[in-house]
Amino acid sequence: YFIEGTVSLNESFVMDDAHIHHIKNVMRAKADDEFNVVDSTGNAYLVRLTDIDPVTYEVIEKINAEVELPVNITLYSPLLKGDKMDVVIQKSTELGAHEFILYKADRSVVKLNSKKEESRLVRYEKIAREASEQSRRTKIPAISFAGALKAMDFTQYDLVLFAYEDNNLTGRSIKDVLKAHNAASVAVVFGPEGGFTEAEAEFFRPYENVALGRRILRAETAPLYALSVIGSYYE
Ligand code: SAM
Repeated sequence: YFIEGTVSLNESFVMDDAHIHHIKNVMRAKADDEFNVVDSTGNAYLVRLTDIDPVTYEVIEKINAEVELPVNITLYSPLLKGDKMDVVIQKSTELGAHEFILYKADRSVVKLNSKKEESRLVRYEKIAREASEQSRRTKIPAISFAGALKAMDFTQYDLVLFAYEDNNLTGRSIKDVLKAHNAASVAVVFGPEGGFTEAEAEFFRPYENVALGRRILRAETAPLYALSVIGSYYE
């Protein structure tokens, strides 16, 4: 569980309200059950339930195993149709994504007003939080909406991978590009269902144009391919 504030070893804490329902009704936890908490500094601990009313736990030991990828992966994806975005956020969080930027592609199909964006954000943040918890991650990816790609600053990343469908037969593989760089921060840019326009492709000409294999993948499959390749390169 991701908790507010910090905890210390061998001390007892009352669980945040946000997790009570899950602990009591979903996990049906009882005294002496053990689980993990991650505090707001990203430290993970093994804890033991000491009381159920109120839900109280004792911090037993710090978990030092590093579960996060050694690189920060920021995923740029247009908003996808239907529940595809939910799938991308959930699965990409499991696969270790650090941040999602939902930008407006030239051929974006889905367009939301700012009120709708706000409510979507709440939903996506919940999906990311639950996926992080289930994957036992120590970080929850940040999610935000953004405008067009050409208005953004990509120089902030050590490496920018432009996943261009027209490169399927000619582009470098992600693995080869990662080998050639010692990047700590990587942006991976994906297009919408209808693909990138020539203008978007031109904007990314100076960056690393990569192929995600030889076949054209669905917009929701492409990030999962890229993150799996990146994960297997580093792990
Ligand atoms: N029409 C399908 C759909 O509705 O999902 C295919 C969409 S594909 C054009 C969407 C995005 O996935 C592309 O803009 C690109 O970022 C990425 N992509 C898919 N296959 C790729 C490949 N083989 N190489 C590089 N990028 C790829």
